[in-house]
Formats: sequence, C-alpha cells, structure tokens
Amino acid sequence: MAKLQNPNRAKIHRNYTVEEIAMLYAVHKNTVRLWIKDGLPTIDRKRPILIAGADLRRYWQSKRTCRKRKCQLFEMYCVRCKVTQRPAENMADYEPLNSDTGRLIGLCPDCGGIINKFVRFNRLDEIRGYLDITQTKALKHISDSNNPLVNSDFNQ
Ligand SMILES: [Zn+2]
Repeated sequence: MAKLQNPNRAKIHRNYTVEEIAMLYAVHKNTVRLWIKDGLPTIDRKRPILIAGADLRRYWQSKRTCRKRKCQLFEMYCVRCKVTQRPAENMADYEPLNSDTGRLIGLCPDCGGIINKFVRFNRLDEIRGYLDITQTKALKHISDSNNPLVNSDFNQ
C-alpha cells in the first residue's frame, strides 16, 4: 500500500502541477499520476495538468481516515463527527469535476452536515448498488470547492 502523505503540505489557495506535487512530496511524477488515477481530481484536462491545493489536501485527509478504518466505496467522512458515515437515507449527489472524477456528496446521518468524497466516474455504477445517486451539473469553477458544498445553491 502506498505511503500516507501529510495533507497539510499542500497550500489550499494555490494550484500545483504534477511536477510541483512530486517535488512537494518527494515522490516520482508517476506516483502523482497514480494518485490522479486513484481519484485525486485535476482542474481540467488542459496541459499542464493542474491540481488545486485544497483538493490535494482533502484527498490525503480522506486517505488517512479510511486507512484507520476501512472505508466502503459508499461511505464518506464527516469532518464534524470525525467518523466515516454512510450518507443519510442512502442518498447522495454526484457532482462531476471533470470527465473522469467527481465528488460524491451526502448528509451526515448524525449531525446533518455535508459529507463528501472524490470518486471516479467509472465507480458510480458500483456505488449505485448501495446509494441512490443524483447526478448534478458540473461545478462552474474549481474554486467553489474550497467552500462547503452547501453554499453552491446560493451562488447561482
Ligand atoms: Zn456528522
């Protein structure tokens, strides 16, 4: 299994190229590409590939949490309760970030807060076996993802 990385190494308000992330974490560029395959979202498909620091951080935060307690594909981490939860009423939204990756968003059954995680588009069918998924439109811009997703309705 891959080594867990420190989520706080990434700065929230900047974007990183694959090369910069490789430098930051002292890993090979191909390792970063594997993270992207594994669900680390990229901002778009343009070259060079850019990754938002906030996404990088969230990616490693959820990795850490799920390592401690095996996360199921349909479970998400609640920042408030600090536990992994199956979303309330088995309902979740899938919000695409690009053509391969999106965010699965649900409500924490305990505190009612937003829980979310990155998933690959090609895992959606598998997740549909457990959750009732509504597909939403793509985010206008990745910077929205720095805010809690609950705000997105009010920004329209
Ligand atoms: Zn909660």
